[in-house]
Amino acid sequence: MKGERTRVAFDARTPYMAVLAELEPQMADSKADAGDVLSAEADDHFHDECGVFGIFGRQDAAAIVTLGLHALQHRGQEAAGIVSYDGSQFHVERHVGLIGDTFTKQRVIDSLQGNRAIGHTRYATTGGAGVRNIQPFFAELAEGGLAVAHNGNLTNALTVQRALQKQGSIFSSTSDTETLLHLVATSKERDLNSRFIEAVRQVEGAFSLVALTAKKMIGCRDPLGIRPLVLGDLDGAWILASETCALDIIGARFVRDIKPGEMVVVTSKGIESIFPFEQQKTRFCIFEYVYFARPDSSVEGRNVYEVRKRIGAELAKESPVEADVVVPVPDSGTPAAIGFSQAAGIPFELGIIRNHYVGRTFIQPGDSIRHMGVKLKHNANRRIIEGKRVVLVDDSIVRGTTSQKIVQMVRDAGAKEVHMRIASPPTRASCFYGVDTPEKSKLLASRMSVAEMADFIRVDSLGFLDIEGLYRAVGEPGRNGEQPQFCDACFTGEYPTRLLDFEGHDNVRTLSLLATSGA
Ligand code: SF4
Repeated sequence: MKGERTRVAFDARTPYMAVLAELEPQMADSKADAGDVLSAEADDHFHDECGVFGIFGRQDAAAIVTLGLHALQHRGQEAAGIVSYDGSQFHVERHVGLIGDTFTKQRVIDSLQGNRAIGHTRYATTGGAGVRNIQPFFAELAEGGLAVAHNGNLTNALTVQRALQKQGSIFSSTSDTETLLHLVATSKERDLNSRFIEAVRQVEGAFSLVALTAKKMIGCRDPLGIRPLVLGDLDGAWILASETCALDIIGARFVRDIKPGEMVVVTSKGIESIFPFEQQKTRFCIFEYVYFARPDSSVEGRNVYEVRKRIGAELAKESPVEADVVVPVPDSGTPAAIGFSQAAGIPFELGIIRNHYVGRTFIQPGDSIRHMGVKLKHNANRRIIEGKRVVLVDDSIVRGTTSQKIVQMVRDAGAKEVHMRIASPPTRASCFYGVDTPEKSKLLASRMSVAEMADFIRVDSLGFLDIEGLYRAVGEPGRNGEQPQFCDACFTGEYPTRLLDFEGHDNVRTLSLLATSGA
């Protein structure tokens, strides 16, 4: 386990700043550790930054949140936190590391008393892995405690933060979620629902929120519904979760997706649905289907595995190739490779084996080992590959460095030809909605043509799924150019919201702050 155990019990007299100050000394350890961690460099993907989970009305609430977060671990592996309420006090545990390494100890769960709890698991860039950025965030308001966990990224958080600072607010983290807490805290509305509504109406961007007070659990999705959030039920206890796979793990019933722009308020009397925003055409993140969501989840009414297989089938139609074997880059390329294989009539084989015991937080003893990243994680299955014309199927190419190493590995295993097929369009633009993305200039597709990329990763041919094919795979007739049905900005550069914090002369500063912001 990396980092220290962090436990703070809140009572009505615990001021917000004192709580954060208590967490602060542990940041130094986290930062020192961060440099030793092998993360995105060896895992060339966009990374969704968060998963959220909450349950209201069940005695073993914290244990259930732990299980839910474990199922959502793919949405963030660097740190996690849980806040519970026991009828008189809030309790919090925040840890750097995997759920299974940190939240499974009996003393941790025992300390999270109460029949309601919310949790958060996060991915963070190296600079943002400090304990102070681990969610849920907590503030002591006039009406009592409020904990908030957030999946997404607010695109006007810095602008709002500056305005609040001018009015005297003091910020203790680099997370946009803290901005939201300040908006609730400084609202002049009388009851918490109204204060929460006023706060979320002032922020822009992507947010799927789960919040907890002494009396209620609140869930809220931004009006475009960019990130997912679902409602479940476990023997009468309401659940909010990023994905349905988190309901399956505990045997909970999927009730429905929280609607874009919807706020649900759960109390001991039941559940209330409120729509605080003007209705808009929704723009769910299409990349959730390509890579972020777990294949056994259903999001926005579509099973992710089935969509990925259809993506593979579209790809086979769009970019056919004469080959002997279809090999997925595991694990994320597997469903698309199955779809490709079935549509093309080319045998599917596991020509690359992934070592599941090398986590994303593998600790590197030095630079020479760091360069071995891909071999630590993947190994070519020589018997399957030798002498064959191989089609490699992967979900996306970001920097291209991992693809380059995998192609070389397959060639070293004796492949006669190596063709690469990518189950998404070229990623040409950064994401500002809660996904860790390299700067645009580092995205291979932003500076190279497809032919140049093929040269760079040294394949015999390279094909990407067309944006229209991606829309067909998710069940649309095609992309509506006037009013796209999804957010697809990282492929098209057409962002569904304004990007207030990222416009204008101080763009560089805001981007650097984004790298340390929580989602
Ligand atoms: S830019 Fe849009 S489609 Fe791309 S990852 Fe971000 S939210 Fe998803």
